[in-house]
Amino acid sequence: MPTAYDARVTLPARVRIVEVAPRDGLQAEDRTLSTDAKLELLERLADAGLTVIEATSLVSARAVPQLADAEDLLTRMRRRRGVRYPVLVPNERGLERAIGAGASEIAIFASASESYSRKNLGRARDEAIEGYRAVVRGAKGAGLPVRGYLSMVVADPWDGPTAPATVVECCRRLLDMGCDELALGDTSGVGTPRDVELLLGAVADADIALAHVALHFHDTYGQALANALTALRLGIATFDASTGGIGGSPFAKMAGGNLATEDLVYLCRGMGVETGIDLDAIVATARWLGEQLGHELPAHVSRARGPD
Ligand code: MG
Repeated sequence: MPTAYDARVTLPARVRIVEVAPRDGLQAEDRTLSTDAKLELLERLADAGLTVIEATSLVSARAVPQLADAEDLLTRMRRRRGVRYPVLVPNERGLERAIGAGASEIAIFASASESYSRKNLGRARDEAIEGYRAVVRGAKGAGLPVRGYLSMVVADPWDGPTAPATVVECCRRLLDMGCDELALGDTSGVGTPRDVELLLGAVADADIALAHVALHFHDTYGQALANALTALRLGIATFDASTGGIGGSPFAKMAGGNLATEDLVYLCRGMGVETGIDLDAIVATARWLGEQLGHELPAHVSRARGPD
């Protein structure tokens, strides 16, 4: 019989983890993995029970040389039944290339803040968001689900805090355009649970269904798990995470940055929340990935378990 002190009564029974190491993680690494190693990573992640794995990105190879083999990877990869493999695309040309290489789901990326949009996307925020309209229409026309990333939802390194009302307005526009799911990112990793409460309060007040909202935390200031737990308690059931915690923050001098998959799985397991993911398999994959990348990865659980 749950008591008033039993936190499980307020948590979702099950959480879906969107694995971002093959894209968000690898694009931040100095060492570029071979296509064969990336294919093995995708296999290992699916073996561990992940059902959504962001496979790669079709942004320019000059901007992100680590993922220059995207089309080759998409052509060669084995797609498992029951596993979704979204691919990041920057524009209509990227969408065409993704479809041509067999992608069955895409992701687009916008910013809730002005400066990051100008620096990362080369366009003002509203113009960048509007620019995705044709991409989303094209994807939906081809029957592909679309995930919309929205960066800097807590603060921007240049602009300061992002108003929750601004985030909500951007969410509304991306959903109206046809995005099926939004991934709200604390890209600089500065947010605390209070910021998460304010943000999700604004999202709920705007009648945006939480089922369409995923959160993407960075651990720059050590807040990622606390923020994830806060969001869990407020009804969010989809989180982005990266095996080993790879995915460096470009805004702080540190290795790693994304919330680590194994840390989130460990937390969920302890809280009685089902993830469908084999923790030992993720730890083994993180160890293997660290060997491939030539350095120790930042995830707490994999470091605590140590080498065999
Ligand atoms: Mg990230």
